Amino acid sequence: MQTDIPVVKDIVLVGGGHAHVSVLRMFGMEPIPGVRLTLITRDIHTPYSGMLPGYVAGHYRYDEVHIDLGPLARFAGARLYHGEVDGVDLDARLVHVPGRPPVPYDLLSINTGSRPRTLDVPGALEHALPVKPIDRWLQDWEMLQRRVVDSQGEFRVAVVGGGAGGVELALCTQHRLQALLRERGDDSSRLQCELMTEGTEILPTHNAGVRRRFGRVLDERHIAVHPNSRVVRVDEKGMEIQGGDFRPADAVLWVTNAGAPEWPVQSGLAVDGEGFIQVDCELRSVSHPEVFAAGDVASLPDPRPKSGVFAVRQGPVLTENLRRAIANRPLKSYRPQRNFLGLISTGDPYAVASRGNWSWEGRLLWTWKDWIDRRFMQRFNELPEMVEDIVPDLGGIADADAIKELSTLAMRCGGCGAKVGSTVLSRVINRLPAQRRDDVLIGLDSPDDAAAFEIPPGKVMVQSVDYFRAFIDDPYTFGRIAANHALGDIFAMGAEAQSALAIATVPYGRERIVEQTLLDVMNGALDTLVPTGAVLAGGHSSEGAELAFGLTVNGLIGKEALLRKGGMQPGDLLLLTKPIGTGTLFAADMRGKAKGRWIDGAIQSMLVSNKDAAGSLYRHGATACTDVTGFGLLGHLVEMTRASECDVEIDLEALPLLDGAEQTVAAGILSSLQPQNVRLRRAVRDADALSGHARYPLLFDPQTAGGLLASVPTDRVAACIEELRKLGYSHAVQIGTVKPRTDLDAPVSVRV
Ligand SMILES: Cc1cc2nc3c(=O)[nH]c(=O)nc-3n(C[C@H](O)[C@H](O)[C@H](O)COP(=O)(O)OP(=O)(O)OC[C@H]3O[C@@H](n4cnc5c(N)ncnc54)[C@H](O)[C@@H]3O)c2cc1C
Repeated sequence: MQTDIPVVKDIVLVGGGHAHVSVLRMFGMEPIPGVRLTLITRDIHTPYSGMLPGYVAGHYRYDEVHIDLGPLARFAGARLYHGEVDGVDLDARLVHVPGRPPVPYDLLSINTGSRPRTLDVPGALEHALPVKPIDRWLQDWEMLQRRVVDSQGEFRVAVVGGGAGGVELALCTQHRLQALLRERGDDSSRLQCELMTEGTEILPTHNAGVRRRFGRVLDERHIAVHPNSRVVRVDEKGMEIQGGDFRPADAVLWVTNAGAPEWPVQSGLAVDGEGFIQVDCELRSVSHPEVFAAGDVASLPDPRPKSGVFAVRQGPVLTENLRRAIANRPLKSYRPQRNFLGLISTGDPYAVASRGNWSWEGRLLWTWKDWIDRRFMQRFNELPEMVEDIVPDLGGIADADAIKELSTLAMRCGGCGAKVGSTVLSRVINRLPAQRRDDVLIGLDSPDDAAAFEIPPGKVMVQSVDYFRAFIDDPYTFGRIAANHALGDIFAMGAEAQSALAIATVPYGRERIVEQTLLDVMNGALDTLVPTGAVLAGGHSSEGAELAFGLTVNGLIGKEALLRKGGMQPGDLLLLTKPIGTGTLFAADMRGKAKGRWIDGAIQSMLVSNKDAAGSLYRHGATACTDVTGFGLLGHLVEMTRASECDVEIDLEALPLLDGAEQTVAAGILSSLQPQNVRLRRAVRDADALSGHARYPLLFDPQTAGGLLASVPTDRVAACIEELRKLGYSHAVQIGTVKPRTDLDAPVSVRV
């Protein structure tokens, strides 16, 4: 990451399609100092279209056909925002993503693919299985396999669409489903497949030889083809064909021509008659020169079929043009090939080649296609180690104003002089939604030298502070997690969250970029604080080399009601409300060794508030409680045993773990804080005997925004776990038992 180079320009990539993966890789190989990339994508694992039919046919595993955008974005030094764009404000240059603040850009590039057209056919949306978006189709596909296996008697699958996608999918679907039935000793002939196309023949964009070859293969496989069959309605029993015929079907797969998403036209981008973004031969929007588009979503002056092949080919030109456009240099033209080689598989390891008027077929073609596809994927899933140091030269991208603004950064003071400028701070505060609480006498709504709080009679104020460096590149999500982490202490004590003071360090940069970062992180914190009832009452911000953020949080509680670490009773059971593993996972992420879905899962877990869990534990008579954070599970357990003067026995196999944590630990990747936590191992009885266990290191794994660890009387545990799960803590589980004190030095025993 280019942490010490000020950000001058923002390039925002929307969609992790086939062209953008190239952009990311090439920017990773050769970053532009001062240019920040942000990737906003609906899916963290983006499917590679060329291998998709092979995946359906059962030849590949999930990870073999998906590009993991997590490590790729990290390699590119890009911020990765997980979300689905639903509009762009082209005047203000902001991308809208539900659930987070708008994302500003200097250059925008769109590569979001397409969806099947004609999904507006009555009933299609509810009853058919559209192949786009592909990720959702893959979920449907898993379900369809289960349905077929569980069914009895004839099962009819109809594929709607006679293009290459439809033909290939019909053959691959049949191949896999019949194989599944055979594997279970079932009769594979009870699966019936047919193909519906509104045209007079299949594969209309391919040559007669290809059509003839596929006609033969489909015939040999007993897949009936119905030309001139326009489907006009779908229901749970089948499809109505134009003209009145009804064809029964147990599953209808929708593979019609590519259709455009609606948000580009609604945002005001120039689109063609079908809604695809009109670009010139430089892949630049014809209406908005700061916007680029590639792949299926783009409409070129000289149109080509909607195919991943073209999206892939556009990648290098798009990369080059984004580089040139950001530096105001002339752009390069993209010249699509007239003919391209298509290799279409038949489900079994066999393929048909198509190019212009030429065609061929054979098993060798499949082997060749497989080799090409695997080589392509290798470029994205096996990334080079790291790029060389960047010598900052902002000449090309920074205009005179920017250079003047940046040159003053070098002379910025430390101490109070390092504060974010008062105008920036006050603009940010003015842009935050106003909040009020009667017991916050002076807060951000009437700022003064200090905030003032009232403590209601009979209550005490509990306070805690946390502050740490950003471990993800998304300031908004980081702000949400940091606030959640800080509030954990308040909830662990059984208190109600009342107020918070924020402290932020924002990377040096141009004023508007510093302001946006501060705004994003504060908005994130607020989006966590507000639902808990706490108000942000003030704070302090400064500039530094990297983003860091924290909060002092205040809570209120009746003096007698305080829940503490001491209080565990022998016989109580130990509950943990969230899975562990954030330390090792983010250590792996920093090295580009964690899968995107593991990191996404960890982030989702860190975003879960401990508020409701605390309420439930309290209602079920918890005798002691703490939140699991930097000291790791063991460190916090030891604190509880000391304060309670008890021992505990925990069950290593029962520990809930985040997906991927066991794999990253097995790969020897541990948090830099782990060695400090491991010093406490003497608190574990027979620690040496446990050290070879795969899960053992996770006892010391430091957690960010971890769950609550509590002791609960035995007779209340089942009801408590049931309630916790209903409240959304799906991993809440009993992990051990409180025992009478026997060993002061080694109070923790671990069962394996
Ligand atoms: C069954 C089938 C088989 C096919 N086989 C082949 C083949 O063998 N060879 C071939 O070349 N083509 C094939 N195609 C066509 C191919 O799938 C598409 O042409 C190709 O995927 C288009 O690539 P793209 O880069 O434009 O977008 P995509 O590959 O669709 O990628 C779009 C990306 O954008 C993200 N995204 C989408 N909307 C949003 C949003 N609003 N906000 C944020 N992110 C968003 C998605 O998560 C995804 O990461 C096939 C199509 C089908 C249906």
